[in-house]
Amino acid sequence: MPETTVSDPTSLPTHLPTHVPSRLPLNTPHRFYRGGERILTFRGLEAPADFDGHRPEDWLASTTRLFAEGGDGVTVLDDGTRLPDALAADPDHWLGDAHVAAHGVEPGLLTKLLDAGERLPVHSHPDRAFAAAHLDCGHGKTEAWIVLDAEPGACVWLGFRDELPTEELAQLVGAQDDRLLAALNRIEVSPGDALLVPGGQPHAIGEGVFVLELQEPTDLSVMLEHRRFGLEEAHAFLGLTVPRALESVDRGPLTPEGLAALRRRWTDVAGAGHALPGEAAAFFRAEVLSAAPGAPATGEASFAVAVVVAGEGVLTTGTDAPHATSVARGDVLLVPHGAGPVGLDGDVTVIRCMPSA
Ligand SMILES: [Zn+2]
Repeated sequence: MPETTVSDPTSLPTHLPTHVPSRLPLNTPHRFYRGGERILTFRGLEAPADFDGHRPEDWLASTTRLFAEGGDGVTVLDDGTRLPDALAADPDHWLGDAHVAAHGVEPGLLTKLLDAGERLPVHSHPDRAFAAAHLDCGHGKTEAWIVLDAEPGACVWLGFRDELPTEELAQLVGAQDDRLLAALNRIEVSPGDALLVPGGQPHAIGEGVFVLELQEPTDLSVMLEHRRFGLEEAHAFLGLTVPRALESVDRGPLTPEGLAALRRRWTDVAGAGHALPGEAAAFFRAEVLSAAPGAPATGEASFAVAVVVAGEGVLTTGTDAPHATSVARGDVLLVPHGAGPVGLDGDVTVIRCMPSA
């Protein structure tokens, strides 16, 4: 357990945030698809007693509830405080006053580790405009995948190669066969890849792909493929009529040029830099901090889910009385804005998942 310090203990309840990062506990709600072993391996954890092979997502610093499957999803901190309650008790400390003024007391970001133990169904998420118009929700769900591990030849699918007329999309969704997947761009991935998935773009993650995922903080999905995954149609289309739900889908085409603009190699970053294409910045930021012996890296103060993706070293927070946290691949830390700038020393790479600036 990290040492607990608060600037003025008399003014804050004892469970309130500290100037040091907190290690995030495993938060793996049951999902309809298989996976989760790579999460446990990455985190260096034994399988919990309730591990049933259907724990493919670890929701990190989540203030978001599951939409379709009735579970929870909200992060509970080590001291038993639910994250939304911790944020509400001291928003400026956790999120920074500029963020609170612009976005209110929510991070506006959901970060996950996702281990696809089987191919995920083809689905899409509404963009902000559709969510506001039809779902009474201020967020859509643009997401991004930062590939941490992948079986050789593993792949993802993103965007229709050719434009699909409305009737043809409806027909493919009605048929529930393999033609929907076949109409998408198939992309082989390897560790180091990063892809932005704009709201509206249909997609699927293939078996054997392990990603760090950033999303707008909703659980709104249009499950274009649902029958073979045993999903009820009522849950597949967000409670909307099928034609209305399908209006949220980008019918393409997503061309090779369009696709290239959505891709990066996060392993190409030396020192500090962005893991994701610039278009992501309107929704969230994923900053790579990579330290090498004799070449430390630094990052600005921010609410961040810091995921150690390679190596080992020391993460330093705060300026007046800096606090050093030993870190190694698989560690997942929640760093409040109030912890101040971060420094990284050693031979280690951290990806800081942060709200949009
Ligand atoms: Zn998705």
